[in-house]
Amino acid sequence: MDTNREQQLDDLYREVVLDHYRNPRGRDPVENPHGCNEGFNPVCGDEVRVCFSLDGDRIGQIEVQGSGCSISVASGSIMAEHLRGKSLGEVRAIHSALMSMMHGRDEDSDVDMGDLEALEGVKKFPVRIKCALLPWVTLSDALKAIEAGGSRPESASSTEGAEEPPPADSTTQGEERPGIPCDIPEDQHG
Ligand code: ZN
Repeated sequence: MDTNREQQLDDLYREVVLDHYRNPRGRDPVENPHGCNEGFNPVCGDEVRVCFSLDGDRIGQIEVQGSGCSISVASGSIMAEHLRGKSLGEVRAIHSALMSMMHGRDEDSDVDMGDLEALEGVKKFPVRIKCALLPWVTLSDALKAIEAGGSRPESASSTEGAEEPPPADSTTQGEERPGIPCDIPEDQHG
């Protein structure tokens, strides 16, 4: 049964991640944004720019421009789609639930995760957790800056140092690495 569940997660992961990667949502520019922030994941070179407008204490429009591996782009796309219209409290709850999920903590939570459920597959690849969280950390920093007094964040967010250093996940040294190193591994069948 567990194997079935894992297989289902795998399929969902690929299907949803690839769909969002190929057709990223939230690319429309936000007019008169209340906040913008940029994030960078040095581990595999993912870049993201997040802009949003607020409608009271809710997210009005949200724009996510990302480039990099499929997981960072897909996570940003899912974030843009999922957070539109959410209250800031809900945004924090979803971010927190996502981090718990990534770190394998099974918490009782009634947070509606939508397509984010698909990202649970990422937790098997610790290096890529940073990719998945990059858009969220970037948005969260921008929101914190607003809550702290309306000033814009002074520096771009980075996932560097947020967790233990990533393990070297390949034996390539000075060799040409095939494809994008942080992309979905195709050879995970042991
Ligand atoms: Zn990445």
